[in-house]
Amino acid sequence: MSEFNDLYQELILDHNKRPRNRRVIPCPPGRRAEGHNPLCGDRVTIYVVMDGDVITDVSFEGKGCAISTASASLMTEALKGKTRAEAEKLFGRFYDLVTTGHAVDDMDKLEALAGVAEYPARVKCATLAWHTLKAALEDKPEPVSTE
Ligand code: ZN
Repeated sequence: MSEFNDLYQELILDHNKRPRNRRVIPCPPGRRAEGHNPLCGDRVTIYVVMDGDVITDVSFEGKGCAISTASASLMTEALKGKTRAEAEKLFGRFYDLVTTGHAVDDMDKLEALAGVAEYPARVKCATLAWHTLKAALEDKPEPVSTE
């Protein structure tokens, strides 16, 4: 973890140590999807509850490296109350962030993961939860793999 600057390192370590929204949501009302990043061994299950077009609850479970766990935790915090379209737009911006290292606009705590851009092998760790969320929103039953 020495690759990240102190501030971001602290936020990532905190979310890895004390992940937010790490719990199971029964399905229904939740929808779930599973994701796997074979490159690192990260596994995640994302649960999402929709009210019409709005994400009213989102949680995750899984085992993975600090980046994948912190990213899933930060993602769940960022998504509550967002519409599906807003969530998909945010995923696009997040992907840009972790591949270029630059935030298009204010991305709040998600910017903690900007340092991932310098380590391309970790991009899949950071985006696994987001890819899996997309599958949950689309109600796709087959597990997501980053490979
Ligand atoms: Zn990983």
